[in-house]
Amino acid sequence: MKTRLIFTIVCGLTCSGLVAQPMPGSTEWQAANKSIARCELPHRQSPINLRKGSREAHQFKWLYQPSHEVVINLGHTVELKYDEGSRVIFDGENYQLVQMHFHTPSEHWVRKQRFPMEAHLVHQAKNGHYLVLALLFIPGNSHPFLETFIDDIPKNAEAIYEKDKNIDIRQLLPASPAFYTYSGSLTTPPYTEGVRWVVFQVPVAASNAQIEAIQSIEGFNARPLQKIFHRRVAHFRQEE
Ligand SMILES: [Zn+2]
Repeated sequence: MKTRLIFTIVCGLTCSGLVAQPMPGSTEWQAANKSIARCELPHRQSPINLRKGSREAHQFKWLYQPSHEVVINLGHTVELKYDEGSRVIFDGENYQLVQMHFHTPSEHWVRKQRFPMEAHLVHQAKNGHYLVLALLFIPGNSHPFLETFIDDIPKNAEAIYEKDKNIDIRQLLPASPAFYTYSGSLTTPPYTEGVRWVVFQVPVAASNAQIEAIQSIEGFNARPLQKIFHRRVAHFRQEE
């Protein structure tokens, strides 16, 4: 209850610029509560613990092509820039693939299980809206997509490695298009909301050596789990 109250006050401050708390029951208090009710800022944050929700129909199609290799060691993450021309269509909207990066361990959990690594494929539509496609990793065989660039990751932070060699993100996509989807936020500042998350249900295998190679550079860079509140996590599976 106390946490809820603090949260409500913080929310009110953030949204309405309120600096002093009005007397409970007063007109100002009622107005502030209405403002808080409208404030959705801290209600739709990511990551979350995913559970199988109700099944939902979505139009989802990926249209990816190879890109020339650009690998960046950002210190807190390993990022691959992606050439223009690769996109996904989600419910009729086009989202261009801009970059992908990694989190160790995973940021999303599935039924309270965490994974050793998660990849985020960051897409953006012309109107600025984000769609992030997330892949969870489990230890297993060496992954051919990771193999194409893992030895090229610069050892020094803020260093960029660029080569006239192709990487192909299609190698990373799982055979099963089943995914969880929900509305959330970026998981790094400024934690922008209105992000469409598509988290593939079936994890992808990578060798321990590959996961450790990425982890040794970025360390622990997963944001803590955020509350779901009233959000619905939907589950999508391609119709046979
Ligand atoms: Zn991320």
